[in-house]
Amino acid sequence: MNPLKIVFASSEVIPFAKTGGLADVSASLPSAMASLGHQVQIVMPMYRSVIEGNFKLKLMDSSIEVPYRGQLLKAKVYHAKMGPNLSIYFIRRDEFFDRSGLYRLPEGDYFDNPDRFIFFSRGALHLLKLMGFQPDIIHCNDWQTSLVPVYLKSLYKDDPFFRSTRTIFTIHNLAYQGVFPKEYMDVSGLPWELFSIQGLEYYGQMNFMKGGIMLADIITTVSEKYAQEVRTPEFGYGLDGVLRDRSADIYGVLNGVDYSEWNPETDSHIAANYSAKDLSGKEKCKEALMKILELKGPEHYPIIGMISRLADQKGFDLLAEAVDELLKLELFLVLLGQGEEKYEKRFLEEGKKHRGRLGVRIAFDGVLAHRIEAGADMFLMPSRYEPCGLNQMYSLKYGTIPIVRATGGLDDTIKEFNPETGKGNGFKFAKYSSKALIDKIKKALALYQNRELWLKLVKNAMKEDFSWERSALKYQDIYHQALSKV
Ligand code: ADP
Repeated sequence: MNPLKIVFASSEVIPFAKTGGLADVSASLPSAMASLGHQVQIVMPMYRSVIEGNFKLKLMDSSIEVPYRGQLLKAKVYHAKMGPNLSIYFIRRDEFFDRSGLYRLPEGDYFDNPDRFIFFSRGALHLLKLMGFQPDIIHCNDWQTSLVPVYLKSLYKDDPFFRSTRTIFTIHNLAYQGVFPKEYMDVSGLPWELFSIQGLEYYGQMNFMKGGIMLADIITTVSEKYAQEVRTPEFGYGLDGVLRDRSADIYGVLNGVDYSEWNPETDSHIAANYSAKDLSGKEKCKEALMKILELKGPEHYPIIGMISRLADQKGFDLLAEAVDELLKLELFLVLLGQGEEKYEKRFLEEGKKHRGRLGVRIAFDGVLAHRIEAGADMFLMPSRYEPCGLNQMYSLKYGTIPIVRATGGLDDTIKEFNPETGKGNGFKFAKYSSKALIDKIKKALALYQNRELWLKLVKNAMKEDFSWERSALKYQDIYHQALSKV
């Protein structure tokens, strides 16, 4: 099979910038595709975290000139080699990207987000021309890069440079669509005829994500279950009809895990390494976590961990309702997260109220995330919806048993443990209610008392393999499918 030329356009990529799972995927999927022999270039904006991070980047000799609001705006381009067949390119225009946040400050979104990502999406196409890199596939992700397929099917449709380029649009989270006043059509330079029901129009506004859904050659979501859910009114956020229309071109591909980063046998952030054969290190990790979060009480109580954006999506209304009752049970609870102010305040207060039993850190802290994965006994994800979810897969590898709501990728990856057959890797509940959550946690606590069965469950969990290779092969098929489209 001939190697493909692939461009991966993303608004966040670890280790350069991250707010959520998209950043993990945007590093590991391109790397997995490069390992399959394809030539892969990642393109992302040059945020302050990139400018100020200690990355070894090279400045390209020439700049790009991007059409924007009727003028040509210059942007510098930096790049770095990430491995064989894999490089990353950064588009630098400080008025747009040299800021402390990626998309927002705690008080709200940046008002010029549409400008920033119009500029970035169009800039990415000009960058490819400057590099002379004529891609077979441009893989776009979420609303920030969803205008790329729209540009290719309109302003650039007769451009010989992109004649054989096909686009993939991956929905990582349908709830964030990039909906802005229709005047941004002019800013984008896109033809107004695209402002229609068949195009970007959405209740009188311009919907970036809808554009990607309508005009990409193939659409994917990050789990099979979510690929079905997005076509229902409950999860479709107003775009379920559009997605149903494109059913023939929608695929669900589960994200993978980068096990060079998330593996208790090699993790350098944790108190002690451990494996399924020898779990003694996990106890040390638990002791260390108790110290970090100043947990006090019987050490035989299990720790339930959570690491998450503090958003409605993640089930924090349920947790807020359940927290008092949960802490009457024999357990510790640990929460690392940041996000919506109402939850930050609420859980800081709860942390004070339940000092010693509930450890709360309002922060984004990658190292502590590893320590929680290793030190906790169980991991809670009561999401209202979850396109894929990464932490439940990390948790499995760390023998930290997931307790999840049966939705999206959580439903695809977690199988309820059956004490009779000894099969299964966690616990899951269906109904979105605090009662269902508490009942399931009680069930997990009861099993935790049976050391033999619990150990069986931990071993099952640690045996699971969600490495990227399998998913990368599926994407490879999808890329070929896109290329077969005229
Ligand atoms: P989403 O992308 O919806 O936020 P995912 O489960 O797909 O959810 O990915 C979240 C990623 O972000 C995981 O790698 C998780 O560990 C990480 N993460 C979320 N919040 C924090 C935090 N406060 N500190 C450190 N890592 C976090």
